[in-house]
Amino acid sequence: MKNTTLCYIEQDGMYLMMHRNKKNGDCNRDKWIGIGGHIEENESPYDCILREAKEETGLWLQAPSYRGLITFCSPCYETEFMHLFTANDFDGSLRADCPEGDLQWISREKLFSLPMWEGDKIFLHLMELPVPFFHLKLTYNADGVLLSHDLQFCGDSREPLLISACLLGTRCRYDGDTRPLSDAVLASLSARYLLIPICGEVLGGLSVPRLPAELQPNGTVIRSDGVDVTQKYLDGALEILKYAGYTNAKIALLKARSPSCGRGRIYDGSFTGTLTDGDGITAAALIKAGVRVYTEEEVDLLCGES
Ligand code: SF4
Repeated sequence: MKNTTLCYIEQDGMYLMMHRNKKNGDCNRDKWIGIGGHIEENESPYDCILREAKEETGLWLQAPSYRGLITFCSPCYETEFMHLFTANDFDGSLRADCPEGDLQWISREKLFSLPMWEGDKIFLHLMELPVPFFHLKLTYNADGVLLSHDLQFCGDSREPLLISACLLGTRCRYDGDTRPLSDAVLASLSARYLLIPICGEVLGGLSVPRLPAELQPNGTVIRSDGVDVTQKYLDGALEILKYAGYTNAKIALLKARSPSCGRGRIYDGSFTGTLTDGDGITAAALIKAGVRVYTEEEVDLLCGES
């Protein structure tokens, strides 16, 4: 059994990634991954990631967080336990001559378009969430195709619940504001569910604040200045479907009337405050994927459901 470490170092929304393009026979050849390597004799995973980060990047990590244990299974390689860390504090300067590959700070928007293992995308998404320590088993076939993933949150049996981030107090609305649920409701929800914050508009690449947009009768999403932002909304919904799939979330609590999150009734596209029947882009995608979607106006129903 092989034991390794991997760390994703993040600063100002950028991840330090390595393009593994230097070593012949590297099983990660030409892929982009984080920093790390084999655990040596008498090393703990923590010792290893500090050493590997220093050797590969020149940076001394400060208090990296131990986030999860990944088990890789493949007919081509020995089974591997990979100890996964994140870090956002470090000392030192980035070295320019890493022997294993080229180091580059990559924005979150570009991250998932890089060539990388399919399973890496799963734990990269998980690491963005406020979730407990997790065990993730990834099974690949001989061609490097991911066959299955099996996720367990350690010591936490609560059911995952996707929840609009603005209902949790995140200032992600178009006007930079938020619509938090009461403390009592949040406490009741947290007791039953593992809350997974999502915001389709931010995940789709829209900034905060931004101009308001509404879903039109023809299915496009148009900003108040007439610009078509449909693709951003679709991109955000796609990201949220990934979160739902990776975490096995079957329930969502979304913000009513939003062109992304609204369910049942949304603004009609005229920017006059008029409501019409319909679902926002993210809500519709989740419903189609079999997720039960509630709005905050139905939160009592959800508090009674487990
Ligand atoms: S997209 Fe959803 S989570 Fe994001 S601000 Fe709008 S309603 Fe809230």
